[in-house]
Amino acid sequence: MSEALRYVSTRGDCPAAGLSAAIAAGLAPDGGLYVPQTMPRRDIADFDPAGTLADTATTLLAPFFAGDPLADALPAICAEALDFPVPHRALTTDGAHVLELFHGPTAAFKDIGARFLAACLARLPRADTRPLTILVATSGDTGAAVGAAFHDRPGVRVVILYPDGKVSPRQAHQLGCFGDNVTALRVAGRFDDCQRMVKAALNDASLQAVVPLSSANSISLGRLLPQMSYYAHAALGWWRERGQPLDLIVPTGNLGNALAALWVRELGLPVGRVHLTCNANATLPEFLAGADYRPREAVATIANAMDVGAPSNVERLRWTFDDATLRRELPATCVDDAAIRDTIARHAREHGEVFCPHTATAMHVLDTLRAAGDRDDWTVVATAHPAKFESVVEPLVGHPVAVPPALAAMLARPSLADPLAADDGTLKAWLKSALR
Ligand SMILES: *Cc1c(COP(=O)(O)O)cnc(C)c1O
Repeated sequence: MSEALRYVSTRGDCPAAGLSAAIAAGLAPDGGLYVPQTMPRRDIADFDPAGTLADTATTLLAPFFAGDPLADALPAICAEALDFPVPHRALTTDGAHVLELFHGPTAAFKDIGARFLAACLARLPRADTRPLTILVATSGDTGAAVGAAFHDRPGVRVVILYPDGKVSPRQAHQLGCFGDNVTALRVAGRFDDCQRMVKAALNDASLQAVVPLSSANSISLGRLLPQMSYYAHAALGWWRERGQPLDLIVPTGNLGNALAALWVRELGLPVGRVHLTCNANATLPEFLAGADYRPREAVATIANAMDVGAPSNVERLRWTFDDATLRRELPATCVDDAAIRDTIARHAREHGEVFCPHTATAMHVLDTLRAAGDRDDWTVVATAHPAKFESVVEPLVGHPVAVPPALAAMLARPSLADPLAADDGTLKAWLKSALR
């Protein structure tokens, strides 16, 4: 067995942990985020050119799993979690490609991380025989991905908190459609309230003694690591075909998706430039333009899954790179709702392509680069299917957007969510009475 990779906290105030422990814990005990103690190196020649996405993931992640109890299960975990296509498709516009991450069960890229995390947790032994309750606060997409990934798994329950009225109608339907071991709570408040309530419950030892709790939020290594797979797979294919690194424009909120692309480059694989796009939430673009890092409250936009004012993975970003390097090498652009709307409408009209509001932020930046004379090949990362945001997209494109079959099946099921006040104590009381 090769030497085990250890994981340390970005805050450096707690002992290093093995992969299984880091995945089971989510957040490090000092409040930091787990990162690999050293970044392994991967070689293009390590990868099978005929391999599937799951094969690429298995090779890519082997050093991250080496020496851990989950190591032997890695091929099975990858095969189980990454069993849907991630097409890298040329657009008719010059040199533009899209990497479509939304062909999983809930039609957003969150499926990849959620399914991988569920496949890992299902294989980790637990001493406690009581069911584990996974709490998840969602601004729309994460909750459905986690619900789908854990639905009907034995020994686990999922409780989803979402801000009532602040997710799209189809997102709301998805969140409430699972039933069985998955419960949706619609909170009379904002996403920040949901996140605070989840944290308060997780930090309450007396509650945990009655109801064992865990979380599946975007800081989990079990969600971040698999997100490197699709970038590695696309970049390797591109390199073999063209001998060029893959340049990416990535819609960004909590920074998990874009950080995965940057980590793939750190491993030595052919990811080239990475350009971040944000909605009107300017925390990252301002910091990367040279301002002090200033987390703040999120503002609501039509790209709601990116409504983040304090991106959690910034800690990992600044652990991996120094600020000067980031400011030199990582451009980030804000795209407001008007530009998002204009981009969706124009691409539908001129090219017959329909994008979700998140993907449209990246497409807008590519359009801006083109207008300034850039003729390079760029890959726009498409994070959700437009049918998930039909109330925004359909009026702009002027026709119904076809619903992918998995999403249609969810929309055909009944949906139920319990109302809950935006109060820490109310959630704790609900958990005690509903889950005991
Ligand atoms: C979550 C999400 C994002 C943002 O991803 P981060 O990893 O939080 O940066 C972008 N688009 C969609 C559709 C999402 O669901």
